[in-house]
This record gives sequence, structure tokens and C-alpha cells, in this order.
Amino acid sequence: MPTYDYVCNSCGKRSAHFIAYESYGKQAVQCPHCKREDLRRLISRVRFVRSEESRLDSFSDPGQWDEDDPKAMAGMMRKMGKELGEELPAEFDEVVNRLEAGESPENIEHSMPDLGGSDMDL
Ligand SMILES: [Zn+2]
Repeated sequence: MPTYDYVCNSCGKRSAHFIAYESYGKQAVQCPHCKREDLRRLISRVRFVRSEESRLDSFSDPGQWDEDDPKAMAGMMRKMGKELGEELPAEFDEVVNRLEAGESPENIEHSMPDLGGSDMDL
């Protein structure tokens, strides 16, 4: 089951929640600290999203996503970040900048170990 990180809008504390894919977005998430259900999703790490894994309709067309073209990928990530409108981690910008500079995603993943194994879902 995937873990989702949330931050509470009331008390500002973070908490992690195990939520099944089918319940995500439907199930109310309660802050374990103040018991309110006023939480927002927190993105803690960046993962490269391949078209086949993407659950966002606008990114589900494989034609829009070319893994061999880091610059196109960077453009997609920027667009994606804006559309999500969520809090993006510092690494996000670095990754996008490096892609734009023509570096391969594999290279970047290797040099930034934090990116691997994340279960963040975009
Ligand atoms: Zn709280």
C-alpha cells in the first residue's frame, strides 16, 4: 500500500498515511496530532514518471513523453509541477534544470540517491 505524506493545515505537523489506491481521494485523512481532517498532500521526493505509469490523463499519451529527449521531459515536468500546484521539493528544480541541460535521467537518478525508491505518485 502506498504511503502518502500530508501536512496539517491546522497545526502544521506532518504525518504519513497508508492509503489504498482505490481509497485515495475518497477516504478522509485525519491529522493524528489535532484530529482535524484539514490536510494537504505533501510531495517529499521526486520520481521520474513514465507515461505508462502516469495516472494523469494529460500525460497518459505516450506520444507526449519521450524519455530519450531530456529537454522535452524537463518541459513536461515543469508543466506537470504547475498543474499539480502542490508543494514541490527543492530537488524538483534541480532535476528539471539538469534535464534541460541535456543530462540523461539515469545519470541524474544515480547522482541523487534520494530519488530512487520513492513511492510518490504523480
Ligand atoms: Zn493537525
